[in-house]
Amino acid sequence: MVVEKTQNRIKCDASGCKNLSEYVIINKKFVFDGSVFLCANCLSLLYGEIGKFFTPKNVKPIFKVGGKDGKIK
Ligand SMILES: [Zn+2]
Repeated sequence: MVVEKTQNRIKCDASGCKNLSEYVIINKKFVFDGSVFLCANCLSLLYGEIGKFFTPKNVKPIFKVGGKDGKIK
């Protein structure tokens, strides 16, 4: 399962959403072979919901706080 940006002008698959999709969840391992198109807003909402159950692993910090002065390097 991969999430990619899409250039296709396809409506967001979330019910009730009228935005154009910007991302596609491509799924070739599941029982059904289909792609889910989502706009940035719905993908963000989905990500927030997933965060209730899973926390990302192996995520490196974007910046390091170091030094005696505590400044961001
Ligand atoms: Zn949407």
